Amino acid sequence: MTDVLNQLFIGGAWVDAADGATMPVDDPATGEILCHVADAGPKDAKLAEEAAVQAQQDWARTAPRARSEILRRAYELILERTDELAHLMTSEMGKPLAEARGEVAYAAEFFRWFSEEAVRIDGGCGTLPDGRNRMLLSRRPVGPCLLITPWNFPLAMGTRKIGPAIAAGCTMILKPAPQTPLSSLALAGILKEAGLPDGVLNVVTTSRAGEVCEPLLRGGRIRKLSFTGSTGVGRILLAQCADTVVRTSMELGGNAPFIVFDDADLDVAVDGAMVAKMRNMGEACTAANRFFVHRSVADEFGRRLAERMRALVVGPGTRDGVDVGPLIDRTGRGKVEELVADAVERGARVLVGGRTPEGPGCFYPPTVLTDVSPESRLMDTEIFGPVAAILTFDDEDEVLRRANDTPWGLVGYVFTQGLDRGLRVSEGLEVGMVGLNTGLVSNPAAPFGGVKQSGLGREGGQVGIDEFLEYQYVAVPVR
Ligand code: ADP
Repeated sequence: MTDVLNQLFIGGAWVDAADGATMPVDDPATGEILCHVADAGPKDAKLAEEAAVQAQQDWARTAPRARSEILRRAYELILERTDELAHLMTSEMGKPLAEARGEVAYAAEFFRWFSEEAVRIDGGCGTLPDGRNRMLLSRRPVGPCLLITPWNFPLAMGTRKIGPAIAAGCTMILKPAPQTPLSSLALAGILKEAGLPDGVLNVVTTSRAGEVCEPLLRGGRIRKLSFTGSTGVGRILLAQCADTVVRTSMELGGNAPFIVFDDADLDVAVDGAMVAKMRNMGEACTAANRFFVHRSVADEFGRRLAERMRALVVGPGTRDGVDVGPLIDRTGRGKVEELVADAVERGARVLVGGRTPEGPGCFYPPTVLTDVSPESRLMDTEIFGPVAAILTFDDEDEVLRRANDTPWGLVGYVFTQGLDRGLRVSEGLEVGMVGLNTGLVSNPAAPFGGVKQSGLGREGGQVGIDEFLEYQYVAVPVR
């Protein structure tokens, strides 16, 4: 790992941290150090802020077509380098190469999508009801942004924020998760190559997130925070943003219900469960966290799901044929172990998995638990691992009530062959997204986001760019 980008990217230049600090990046498949990257402190954050603020005015005036073409070029460069980026992502994050390649395509698509949106920013002109005043309506970039991303989708969470910010004409500081800085640095290299002007994107890798981000949010020059991460950290950041009235988009935790009715096609439901649970080893805020299965089909569903889970191959993500890579780190795995132990103590039966393997790396086996008690901690904690927890239900009203009985509301999954029931239950779920007979909702062309404590705002889709734009209205009386 000698040729990876490992410095800070500030004002279009690659630089070391001001105090020369570095931090290690670990390979979760071996527990060994892959390489070191710059470990920024508040001084570096200040420099990045200065670069973003300086670049803002010219960038806002850049023709939308020029911004669009930079995104389009970057989209093509990402796809050309799929293998290289996938290897980088797998080495720092652990997901199997096939999934990493899928994420590269997904990540690139945000740039293509927003290259198309950059030239469609609308405005308006009209006569106000009094018949005299005219209204000119235009949309302006919100200003310099702070983008904070998590480690689970190191490339796609970056492009999902950077894409609309570039399209809207905002400059930005990206602070990736300390576990997975390499994908973000590679992305900065690609954007530079694609012609992004200096200072528009600045990347600050750090192990001291709080020290680096708080002064930026309180300083009054950053006008927007876009955050993806845990609800706990999201709350802290919202409080910091309140003081200087910084606009926010928050993609926070989930606790997705996965509901299987007695009239569901069980093959479709099991396929859906494999995606909704096992995408990214279960390390996704969209991961199915609570499986509610109608009592009459619960045994059969559990048996089939366990069979599919047992067939998955666990191992280092770089190895051919591996379906399930390691979890991100020992802390993440420890949490999964505790949640499973708690559920078993409260009476859950383990159909498959449930036992941590010996040896290096952070592996955990695909696991199916059945007869899970509603009192179990995993009912109100994001598992973030390959563990399916099955409970039974008897009727529709009951399952809706139980599914909604959580402070989160990101996504829900519903399996039924009844159209009426499918729509009724989808509408009854207090969530931002529903997979109706599918285990995958994420798509760059659709608005991603949650309600309740799962977040504020939407990413992707036609509305994704709105998060980075302000309206300005000019009143013009005609005499
Ligand atoms: P996870 O538990 O999945 O790592 P976090 O919410 O802790 O989720 O992390 C998501 C992102 O938020 C990461 O980039 C992390 O470094 C960052 N982060 C964590 N704490 C803070 C903080 N106090 N201020 C700003 N960013 C933070």
